[in-house]
Amino acid sequence: MTDAGKATLHALQPQHEAIIIGAGVCGIYMLHRLIELGVDVTLLETGEGPGGTWYWNRYPGARFDSESYTYGYSFSKKLLQEWSWSEHFAGQPETLRYLTHVVDELELLPHMRFGCTVKAATFDEDSRAWTVELENGETLTTRLLLTAIGMLSAATMPRIEGVDSFQGKSFHTYYCPEGVRVDGKRVAVIGTGATGVQVIADIADKVAELTVFQRRPNWCAPLHNGPIDGEEQAKIKASYDEIFARCRKTPGGFLHGPDRREFFKISKEERLEFWEALYRSRGFGKWLGNFRDVFMDPRANAEYSQFIADKIRERVDDPATAEKLIPQDHGFGTRRVPLETHYYEAYNRDNVHLVDVNETPIERVTPKGIKTSEREYEFDVIVYATGFDAITGAFDRIDITGSNGEKLREKWRDGPETFLGLGTHGFPNLLILAGPQSGSVSTNFPRGIEETVDWSTQLIGYFRAQDYRRMEPTAEAEKEWVEHVKSFYEGNMIADTKSWFTGYNSNVDGHDTLRYMVYFGGAPAYRERLAEVADHDYEGFEFS
Ligand code: NAP
Repeated sequence: MTDAGKATLHALQPQHEAIIIGAGVCGIYMLHRLIELGVDVTLLETGEGPGGTWYWNRYPGARFDSESYTYGYSFSKKLLQEWSWSEHFAGQPETLRYLTHVVDELELLPHMRFGCTVKAATFDEDSRAWTVELENGETLTTRLLLTAIGMLSAATMPRIEGVDSFQGKSFHTYYCPEGVRVDGKRVAVIGTGATGVQVIADIADKVAELTVFQRRPNWCAPLHNGPIDGEEQAKIKASYDEIFARCRKTPGGFLHGPDRREFFKISKEERLEFWEALYRSRGFGKWLGNFRDVFMDPRANAEYSQFIADKIRERVDDPATAEKLIPQDHGFGTRRVPLETHYYEAYNRDNVHLVDVNETPIERVTPKGIKTSEREYEFDVIVYATGFDAITGAFDRIDITGSNGEKLREKWRDGPETFLGLGTHGFPNLLILAGPQSGSVSTNFPRGIEETVDWSTQLIGYFRAQDYRRMEPTAEAEKEWVEHVKSFYEGNMIADTKSWFTGYNSNVDGHDTLRYMVYFGGAPAYRERLAEVADHDYEGFEFS
């Protein structure tokens, strides 16, 4: 668009009061709340339907690993009562059906535009509005810009030569084609994070040959999924109030909260008994329901890691393979723990092979398969389960320019700087929902999301009621929040470990040092802080 064209646009009122980018769990709820408030709002989404992460991730084995009934929206009793989860941890198709159902029930579709990728967003100081440019060349203007673009939505491919030369089928898990057929095929999986682990466990008994290329193993633990029968369904539906009350109390917003008993005051026998029970139980208890000291005291962590290592040795027949699957570079739970169903048992099958790329590095992808320093493997399908440019990656992929011509991706080059993870100085009228350094990124997602969206709705209500045109976090408030976020990294073993939580990604330039991405203060403290800011007329924001 020419400068003259832009000036004409801005001489007018912006076309919209608010634009939301992203139709995932967060964008859906934000849209609903803004419509309720009477805001003229449009939602833009790259995909051809709503669902966000559950729209995109259609890889074999994709499913929840937090309890589905803690993940649904809690704001509507009607929605809670009419939806029945068929399993404790629902698969991707069911979860996508749930989100589509919510969108239909709330009649949100008329406000959503699909197939729209936002290329750039620029704040104009004269009109106090954002110009949003789409990839199709269209331009929209809006007073408020709200990003609900996901923490794990910027997929990253490995930097391996020859990826495009492969003549079989290959895809990153995020873009896995619906219903992809791997039966009877020779398949490679690169990556053993939560995604790779789900794919491997799901396809091991269906494919002809499965070769897993592993760089660093993760500590995985059993999911123990199961169907929800009628009686249990009724119990869940009758106890949603208690379920959500419990989630509100735990640091992560999950059903599972830490055991605060002092680790070394409990006898070793009692600790073992406790861990055996955790290992047998459903879900994230093995991680989030563990002794708090396991993540603060390296001696406690080493003991629990040993317990899990022995479980891996019990489950994997070949001792050499078992040792390769046991992480050596980090303790249990200091990276995101993948929950699995028969993952370790997959390696007991004759058709499943584990290649440690530290021993025999991948040299290149060839037209026929993958060549390591040892040999060339031939495949029909290559699955890249190689993760994401997490939390800030989706922001970096949009050319966002603030009030002084500053680029957000430049401002955040060495790491994000935000106030409450909800806004950033120099970028007025931009609400970063579930952004870096917010409570939502370290929380059972919808639990954190609902609170953040409710709070943002109140903030927007206040902004409208005072007839403001511009709001922006102050530089001082932002500095104070960033220091506060950093303070939780001291003595925290998760913060000392390289993973997407701490901003590392070997496939992205410059992401090889610690970045303060996650607020580790816990959901209750974050909630309190949000309430305090609101009670003081949104102290930390400047309005005009
Ligand atoms: P990830 O945890 O970042 O794992 C990526 C994997 O790819 C790692 O094993 C990594 O190895 C490997 N990798 C990357 N580049 C490589 C290369 N060049 N050569 C060899 N290996 C390479 O990503 P993810 O598994 O997609 O999971 C991301 C997050 O998504 C999870 O932590 C979780 O929060 C979420 N998720 C949730 C669910 C669920 O709710 N059920 C399911 C799946 C994912 P290194 O470890 O050595 O870097």
